Amino acid sequence: MILLNPRKHVRFYPDDRSRDIMRKTIDFFERKGKKRLKEDDHGRVWYADFLEFVKKERLFATLLTPAGEGETDGRWDTWRNCEFNEILGFYGLCYWYTWQVSILGLGPIWMSPNTVLRRRAARALEEGGIFAFGLSEKEHGADIYSTDMMLVPQGPGAYVARGDKYYIGNGNEAAMVSVFGKMADTGEYVFFAADSRHPRYECRQNVVASQSYVSEFVLDDYPITDADILHRGDDAWNAALNTVNIGKYNLGWASIGICTHALYEAINHASARRLYGMHVTDFPHVKQMFTDAYARLVAMKLVALRAADYLRAASPEDRRYLLYNPVVKMKVTTQGEDVINLLWDVIAAKGFERNTYFEMAARDIRGLPKLEGTVHVNIALILKFMPKYFFEPADLPAVGRRDGAANDDFLFRQGPTKGLGKIRFHDYAKAYGEWNLPNVNVFKDQIGVFRTFLAEATPDDAQRKDIDFLMALGEIFTIVVYGQLILENASIYRIGRDLVDQIFDFMVRDFSKFALQLYGKPSSTPAQMDICLRMIRKPAVDDARYQRAWQEVYDLRGAYEMSP
Ligand SMILES: Cc1cc2nc3c(=O)[nH]c(=O)nc-3n(C[C@H](O)[C@H](O)[C@H](O)COP(=O)(O)OP(=O)(O)OC[C@H]3O[C@@H](n4cnc5c(N)ncnc54)[C@H](O)[C@@H]3O)c2cc1C
Repeated sequence: MILLNPRKHVRFYPDDRSRDIMRKTIDFFERKGKKRLKEDDHGRVWYADFLEFVKKERLFATLLTPAGEGETDGRWDTWRNCEFNEILGFYGLCYWYTWQVSILGLGPIWMSPNTVLRRRAARALEEGGIFAFGLSEKEHGADIYSTDMMLVPQGPGAYVARGDKYYIGNGNEAAMVSVFGKMADTGEYVFFAADSRHPRYECRQNVVASQSYVSEFVLDDYPITDADILHRGDDAWNAALNTVNIGKYNLGWASIGICTHALYEAINHASARRLYGMHVTDFPHVKQMFTDAYARLVAMKLVALRAADYLRAASPEDRRYLLYNPVVKMKVTTQGEDVINLLWDVIAAKGFERNTYFEMAARDIRGLPKLEGTVHVNIALILKFMPKYFFEPADLPAVGRRDGAANDDFLFRQGPTKGLGKIRFHDYAKAYGEWNLPNVNVFKDQIGVFRTFLAEATPDDAQRKDIDFLMALGEIFTIVVYGQLILENASIYRIGRDLVDQIFDFMVRDFSKFALQLYGKPSSTPAQMDICLRMIRKPAVDDARYQRAWQEVYDLRGAYEMSP
């Protein structure tokens, strides 16, 4: 079984320390228990107990210090960071969030040539410090070009920082806050490090009502010298985007953790409940919703794991991860919403109860598609890769499962963020060609028709500028990439053929749904509409296969229940 079960922690690790970290973290939450977990959530209690545990066990020091930085056993190892993400999401998004924004805060630091600041960060990690990433501003949203945090020169090598930042996680306690802004005189971009304990750093408010602290802070003539500068000019811009490249991938894992815990709760509840003299899990529509939720969740995990392989294999010559990461960000997180919707329709009133994990899941799952770049921003990004992906495949090295004890050096020297439209991919048809299953075959037909759409009913100039039209196109492209990653990893993880075919049952339905959306766009032409209709297909029906897939979900009843 590919899903996390804290009662049976069996994931492969090449070293004991990595395995220990996961087991200790699970143990921390199980000892805390569901009752306290929920009380803290309802009371919006700052998670000092978790941070104390992180400090005592040196968790962030080991996981977030790249090899060669500081004097620790640290390495930045995406294989293990994935599961750490998943475990934190499994127990509560707020715990994940303080870890996630620490990752973001550390990004511009580990990418910086400033060795003094890097050493300071390594020391702070050893001392149990957390970090913050000060990019967003209240007025500017995704438009980071318009930042108005300014460094105003005060003589050679000296400046004062003026401006405010909004939505900045950990801004209340961070040992170092990586702040993005501009030089007031030249307008060039800059990243500098601020200390949240400095008297000129005013932490104004928590802008959200939750356990997390998502701050508004003001730098009021905060003194800065060259020694505090992390990056200038293009490097500062690249550091911002390259940090988000690393960070946004984690949102998919948070969704996977949330959905996995919610699935256990839902199946435990539904399988034990009797209505009209039958078990709720005997209703055909309930079986269908569970099977769909399970298939979607397994697919989410296969995709996120596979994207990690490409992230770890990345180099200046192999930048495929730049497509797969936004796919994880945008698609895995929105699939997470679908999973929770399906489960909630089954457990209905139970999902509101204050003592369930589900009640948190239903709220938190919504955040992940929206943060660190919305779905739209990511689809707009994903579309840049489409022409090369479909029409100019390249011979690129095959990438296997990357679970070794390696430091992912390249993540901190990704280089310029330009040239996305030139990135090449291996032929997606290879992964599809290796699977001969009824629903995979229907899906392959749908892809073929979509290629015809692109080649013969190519969107015109006006459509290429119409973001609304492009969103529908982008959803279809994304699902093709999603399917490729599922199939590649289904082979690696030896997922059973029944489950793979069941996964492609929902993939065919989703493809049809997106085709219909494209059909209905105001500017679609008769030729385009005609091709869209040809993309709409029904999944191959096989009741025996469906019953076997359902049994896999049903067998999860009783497999996990959080300690009370
Ligand atoms: C709980 C929480 C925690 C956060 N933590 C941090 C943090 O620690 N550090 C930090 O720097 N930020 C943080 N953020 C900010 C977060 O990353 C932004 O909210 C997010 O990037 C989107 O910005 P916005 O919500 O202001 O939307 P806007 O940018 O105002 O977008 C409005 C609409 O326009 C669309 N849009 C914008 N640009 C484009 C485009 N190029 N193409 C297509 N559509 C577009 C969007 O999809 C959206 O529908 C946090 C936010 C929250 C709520």
